[in-house]
Amino acid sequence: MESGRGLLMVFTGNGKGKTSAAMGVALRAAGQGFKTLMIQFIKGSWHYGELDSSRMLGDAFEIRPMGRGFVKVGAGKPDPEDIRLVEEAWKTAVEAMHSGKYDMVILDELNYAIHYGMLPIGRVIADLAARPERVHVISTGRNAHPDLIEAADLVSEIKEIKHPFHQGVLAQRGIDY
Ligand code: ATP
Ligand code: MG
Repeated sequence: MESGRGLLMVFTGNGKGKTSAAMGVALRAAGQGFKTLMIQFIKGSWHYGELDSSRMLGDAFEIRPMGRGFVKVGAGKPDPEDIRLVEEAWKTAVEAMHSGKYDMVILDELNYAIHYGMLPIGRVIADLAARPERVHVISTGRNAHPDLIEAADLVSEIKEIKHPFHQGVLAQRGIDY
């Protein structure tokens, strides 16, 4: 077995649990003395519980929301402002991978940003391949690009069987945010 090699992991699918799973890995890693940075590509100013929980872990788990909470999906091309924000988030992610500060970088909703054409897949693959070998990366979001799946070491698809949303139950405190 190889040891000490950073893995590229992808959590995708239409069921709930992708971001939660990534945070679960960060929690486990914190116990092993790892430092994790989670960059949220879509989430913005809305206050999620995980922002406070990550602070409880000190510098073992840092979360940076870098989106504006939603993405304008029109009929045509993505909104230039969304592209600018995703671009900035990606630069931050690549810098973090090279900084030596983090053992793990979580790219929350990167799959979504790629899917909506806000970041070219070729660039993502190239930058991920060029990261320091020991850095673990997790990418979350629906509709993971086939090239990202191909490049990944681990891919899990979370499939919706049931979700209370379909019974009219809206997002729940402590469960969804
Ligand atoms: P979570 O952050 O809870 O782990 P996720 O990362 O798998 O969820 P996203 O696609 O990021 O899912 O969507 C986030 C929000 O949408 C959450 O509030 C979640 O409960 C809700 N959601 C996720 N999957 C579904 C679904 N199949 N139907 C309705 N709502 C969903
Ligand atoms: Mg998510």
